[in-house]
Amino acid sequence: MSEPPRRSGTRAVPRILQVFLLCASFVAVHFSTAAPAQAYHHLCGSFYGVSGNDPISYKYSKITNTYYNAFNGAQGRWDTTSAPGYFRYEKNNGDPEVEVRDEGHAWDDWARTSWQGCTFGYWSYDEVYIVFNTSTMRGLSAREKKLVAEHELGHAYGLDHEYYTCANPGPAVMRQGTGKFSCGSDGPWYDDVKGVKAKY
Ligand SMILES: [Zn+2]
Repeated sequence: MSEPPRRSGTRAVPRILQVFLLCASFVAVHFSTAAPAQAYHHLCGSFYGVSGNDPISYKYSKITNTYYNAFNGAQGRWDTTSAPGYFRYEKNNGDPEVEVRDEGHAWDDWARTSWQGCTFGYWSYDEVYIVFNTSTMRGLSAREKKLVAEHELGHAYGLDHEYYTCANPGPAVMRQGTGKFSCGSDGPWYDDVKGVKAKY
């Protein structure tokens, strides 16, 4: 991938620049004083032709047991929800919709989901890339790693970050940082699923 990621993953401490970019993208939402109709936000893209129980293919291009467990648990959790589509492992697919790997990086994100562009509301080439940063995620528990993976899959579905607390309007894996870790037993939660359903 010659292009840098378009969107950072879960962050413990957002950089000012990225906060600015997010605000610039969603000025109307972030600076409104009106009560939000919902918490979720959408990214530009989504998977093409996914509805009902259609498969969304994924493959690991490089993965260790720890992050395999995190991702595998996360895709399984998403599949238990009523969000459209289900994640299907396709070992021999040369061009899966989700390509997953783990790597040590100097950047301070826990993980990143990236894409090559958006065309008419769909991911270009119907493809996203998820990278887990083994350098920054090392200290997270297995459950926390799984929640980070659920967050990245939320991006893959086309969800952007949301900024509310566990209590108002409720937990969401799309919340950034450590706050979501104490929100309850497991995600994805109501707002996440609602956001995906609204997208598809
Ligand atoms: Zn994120």
